[in-house]
Amino acid sequence: MTVDFAALATPGVRSLQPYIPGKPIEELERELGISNSLKLASNENPLGSSPLALEAAQRAAAELHLYPDDIGFRLRQRLAAEHGVSADQVLLGAGSSDVISMVVRAFLGPGRNGVFAQHAFAMYPIYTQASGAECRAAVALPADHPDMPYGHDLQSLAAAVDENTRVLFIANPNNPTGTWLNAPELKAFIAALPAEVVVVLDEAYTEYVQQSDFPNGIGWLGEFPNLIVTRTFSKIYGLAGLRVGYGIANPELLAVVSRVRHPFNVGSMGLAAAEAALDDPSFVARSAEVNHLGLRQLESALDQLGLGRIPSVGNFLTLDLGRPATDCYQALLRQGVILRPLANYGMPQHLRVTVGTEEQNARFISALEQVLKAC
Ligand SMILES: *Cc1c(COP(=O)(O)O)cnc(C)c1O
Repeated sequence: MTVDFAALATPGVRSLQPYIPGKPIEELERELGISNSLKLASNENPLGSSPLALEAAQRAAAELHLYPDDIGFRLRQRLAAEHGVSADQVLLGAGSSDVISMVVRAFLGPGRNGVFAQHAFAMYPIYTQASGAECRAAVALPADHPDMPYGHDLQSLAAAVDENTRVLFIANPNNPTGTWLNAPELKAFIAALPAEVVVVLDEAYTEYVQQSDFPNGIGWLGEFPNLIVTRTFSKIYGLAGLRVGYGIANPELLAVVSRVRHPFNVGSMGLAAAEAALDDPSFVARSAEVNHLGLRQLESALDQLGLGRIPSVGNFLTLDLGRPATDCYQALLRQGVILRPLANYGMPQHLRVTVGTEEQNARFISALEQVLKAC
């Protein structure tokens, strides 16, 4: 007897397409029988993690038979001090995706809708649809926009909001485009939204950004009771494998979001490593600097190759091949270089590359030069 489980799933899950992660190195090497491949597909930190974080994780390994501190008391205290908020304004997650998922579980469901931009982070539509709520993708700025091609179009986002909208997602800078919103425009946009709309401001890459007019959403919490800012230890802190992120909001909003938190959602190694990572600002500064130089290196190499790209302030850059990108993606895989295809983001002619070390970037560029001759 066969059971059609998809038909039995909830309406949102029935037609849900799962998240497609970057291709893992082991998988590629197994498939092609190659070694020494380079993964520039998941915006991981090419410098690894802070040694302080690694030591702390190792120390925590001695007590893995114990449940972690459920509320992550120490890490929350530490983050509260870091950001000038109180500990009851900090909610920890198994990655910031977990925090975003909690917001959705608390506020979205059938009869409601979630609003996000076209070409925004893939988890927004996935969580929204799974909840049974309607997904409203606002048209992005056009590909030929002079400043911010493919960027968030705030007017179209505002127009998508109606009385059933409960969550609006904004990634700043956005992944996979790398585009960003400056402080005055974003602040005015949030101020004009109904207070019944919870705004998730996803700042996963904020530590990389050097633009002077780039906002820090945490500074706006006093004015916006409906704002939750999410941050992560997966990107500049180099702890993606441990799954630690957090949300910062006003206590009243956070208390409701916390109702759906899974118990012990951050493991003890993650708690310890994240705390230690905060004690190593020089690792973060070095990561930002390597990224800054790497972005310039990639930009000038792509310009020399005559390839289009979307302006980025993140730790990644999205190339426009001007033709379907699949062949080029596959050819790069055969050279041992893994990028991220973006067809599932509605960008079939683009590939996203994570900024690596100088040497990794050079290897990518020379592989790209090779494959461009053939694809
Ligand atoms: C990587 C990323 C995250 C963070 O994911 P984690 O769950 O914290 O690992 C969140 N938002 C965006 C836009 C990202 O690119």
